[in-house]
Amino acid sequence: MTNEIENSVVPSSRRDFLKTSALAGIAASFGVAPRVVGASSLSPSSGAIAGPIAISSRNGQKSVLKAIELIQSGADALDAVVAGVNLVEEDPEDTSVGYGGLPNALGIVQLDSAVMHGPTCRAGSVGAIEGIKYASKVAKMVLERTDHVNLVGQGAQDFAVMHGFPVENLLTEKARLEWVRWRENMSTQDDYLPKHSLESTGIGAVTEKIPRHWGTIHCSAIDLAGNISCVTTTAGMAFKVPGRIGDSPIIGAGLYCDNTVGAAGSTGRGEANIENLCSFLIVERMRMGDSPEAACLYACQRIVDHTKLARLLDDKGRPAFNVQFYALNIKGEVGGAEIRGGNGTFAAATPEGGRLVKMAYLYKG
Ligand code: ASP
Repeated sequence: MTNEIENSVVPSSRRDFLKTSALAGIAASFGVAPRVVGASSLSPSSGAIAGPIAISSRNGQKSVLKAIELIQSGADALDAVVAGVNLVEEDPEDTSVGYGGLPNALGIVQLDSAVMHGPTCRAGSVGAIEGIKYASKVAKMVLERTDHVNLVGQGAQDFAVMHGFPVENLLTEKARLEWVRWRENMSTQDDYLPKHSLESTGIGAVTEKIPRHWGTIHCSAIDLAGNISCVTTTAGMAFKVPGRIGDSPIIGAGLYCDNTVGAAGSTGRGEANIENLCSFLIVERMRMGDSPEAACLYACQRIVDHTKLARLLDDKGRPAFNVQFYALNIKGEVGGAEIRGGNGTFAAATPEGGRLVKMAYLYKG
């Protein structure tokens, strides 16, 4: 397996940002005057409290702005990030999260979400919950109104109903037609695998040669008090085996935060992340002094080192799938990285507005 880093990592402060023309369009969608900045300007220049700042996966451009707006009016970071991702959960056009998310192999939308609250070191999560649009709100309710951390399946839905969440049909016509297309083309390229070995190839649906829909939103923020919280919410891997939960509701995988260090979260192939608990790893690397970007790259490399199955590797022996990580630290520095990249960005917002920040990567493409 070739593990050399094709694109050696340039510290965020020296990385180029999007060209003015590209940023102008993106910044407009952020609702602020177009501005090109370096990552270092995302860090506070002075003051004991680093923030407010919010980051998210790229699909959270409106989420980070919402989070910052709420934080500026005094909201706790957890309330702010959950309200931010609710905008994507309710958006039928985002087929990776919440309402309109692509269903499992039986055509049923099952959602995963987790939240973590830095100041109290508490977490809540729901896995494979059906019929509830705002999985992140239920995860927060698990944190606030149970003595548990994880609720799954029917129990998670029953708990949500007990707290007044309506049960809705989350399968939009657009998502149903996508599912029908997948089902009508089922073959060896689904997630039910025949008996296989470390050397087996050509089974499973993870390679880039077989189009497969992924998507999730992660959002972390620091509020006016300097407290850190985060949320991850998703419809998970499209057409997954019913009952499968991904990394998003697993504390330490889909997200993690420590109020004295920072926060991290993930999107991409959840199985690889679960097996390496990368968000926890990233926070611990930042605790040891890594920048957010360096810590995210470290986690990418850990996944590369631990990917042994031939069916998950490309013809150069590298993971054929992708995983993205996003992190911020207590100083307000941000960074992101993915295994395979080149053009990846994530969203960040401060009171000055929103912008897209380039992600580092191990392998181009
Ligand atoms: N990480 C999610 C999961 O494995 C999917 C994604 O982010 O695309 O469920």
